Amino acid sequence: MDCVFCGLIREGTARWVARNTEARAFSPLNPLAPGHTLVVPTRHYAGVFDTPPDVLATSMTLVQRVAAAMRTTLGATGVNILK
Ligand SMILES: [Zn+2]
Repeated sequence: MDCVFCGLIREGTARWVARNTEARAFSPLNPLAPGHTLVVPTRHYAGVFDTPPDVLATSMTLVQRVAAAMRTTLGATGVNILK
């Protein structure tokens, strides 16, 4: 059984905003703040402990790219990154 993120990736139904080779970023249906974005690995991993370091690094590269876009488009002066 897929997790919710794998379901979104398989169905392509999320509001995708960016992607790279290992991760995808999308806007949630009920954002908690302007620019609220979720970045998830394209392949399923149960958590940070079973995610390969190279996938984590590539995912964080996408986080950085999305944060830069928030700075440019929303004038954000900082970002909160939660795991
Ligand atoms: Zn999953």
